[in-house]
Amino acid sequence: MISVEQAFQIISENIQLTDKSIDIDLIDALGYVLFQDVLSPINMPPFRQSAMDGYAINLHDAKTYALIGEVKAGDGHQLHLKPGDAVRIFTGAPVPNSANAVVMQEKISSQNHTLIIDSNITINENIRPLGEQVLEGQVALKKGVKLTAAAIAYLTTLGITQVKVYKKPSIAIVVTGNELVQAGQSLQYGQIYESNAIMLISALNQAGYSNISTHSVNDHYEKTFQVLKEVIYENDVVLVSGGISVGDYDFVGKALEELEVIEHFYKVNQKPGKPLFFGKKDDKIIFALPGNPAASLSCFYIYVIAAIEKLSGNLNFKLNRVKAVSKSDFIKKGERAQFLKAIYKEGTVEILEGQNSSMLHTFALANSLVYVAEKDESININDKVEVILLPIN
Ligand code: AMP
Ligand code: MG
Repeated sequence: MISVEQAFQIISENIQLTDKSIDIDLIDALGYVLFQDVLSPINMPPFRQSAMDGYAINLHDAKTYALIGEVKAGDGHQLHLKPGDAVRIFTGAPVPNSANAVVMQEKISSQNHTLIIDSNITINENIRPLGEQVLEGQVALKKGVKLTAAAIAYLTTLGITQVKVYKKPSIAIVVTGNELVQAGQSLQYGQIYESNAIMLISALNQAGYSNISTHSVNDHYEKTFQVLKEVIYENDVVLVSGGISVGDYDFVGKALEELEVIEHFYKVNQKPGKPLFFGKKDDKIIFALPGNPAASLSCFYIYVIAAIEKLSGNLNFKLNRVKAVSKSDFIKKGERAQFLKAIYKEGTVEILEGQNSSMLHTFALANSLVYVAEKDESININDKVEVILLPIN
């Protein structure tokens, strides 16, 4: 059985970012990753811009200046200042070509049309130079940048409306289990409500993925085979829930083998989530997640999300890992590495009760997972522990 570190390594070695791109309107581009460098079509700012409300002046040796006019934001006229001339100017207005400083209005006293400036003036002070942020033809943002609100706004300041981004994958979720019933229906004895599909959809949505389809199959080999065959053909990523353990009615492993999905690993020395499967068929990626809901979600956050991000062009994605002082103690039974649901707050972490992989009531409150390595045996109160912050806020 492989270790947690080996699982990370194998996933990272076997996932390449996609070569598929799409052109997308900036309004829809949040969270996408740039497929190519974006060149600026203009200088930004497009003209020498006043950074203050005040007076644009043409510097000379005396302290008095003659007020000859006004420029406000949006004005397009060009005023000509001789040395010793000043114009009233406002933030964002174009600074006349013949002005070489903007003086804050707080530094000026005025009498009729004469201004008096007592303080020292530096050449070009309070003037945003033409192209200060980016020059026409220069790279405005590089390939590989993930588009945030700021990045989208910045590209919009350059007049850009569309960009080429990495295509996000289409994702199929396949839920297995005879016992599963949709919430809203009544439960018969032996049945439980199906919750992994909505859990994975919500986690994917939060990460910015919405091209998702859901499929349900009973614990029946031929049906499992048929559905998996179809979804692998039609999607970039397939997430299977349940049916990957060694029970007599777990048919996912056999079906994947029959479909010639290459197994990169099956079983990781970890708790929860030991029966995790990762494989590929051509460039299609298949994760089979354990059915136990908390195990399934742990595996999703620990492994799947990074894989999907990389596939979508984001090479920088990494879950935040921090060191924190434990407020709880914990004794690890067995040799497996553990991911413990926890609440991290300001440098401290509390390990929650109820770590069983079937239990979501604990996970519902957790914002982090405390990582206990294979070699570690226990955690004492006040020990420094490694905490993985969940990408949920
Ligand atoms: P399995 O991995 O199929 O053996 O399932 C392990 C446990 O998780 C069983 O108790 C299942 O009933 C439960 N389980 C499996 N799939 C789901 C699901 N989609 N929603 C809620 N519980 C599930
Ligand atoms: Mg099952």
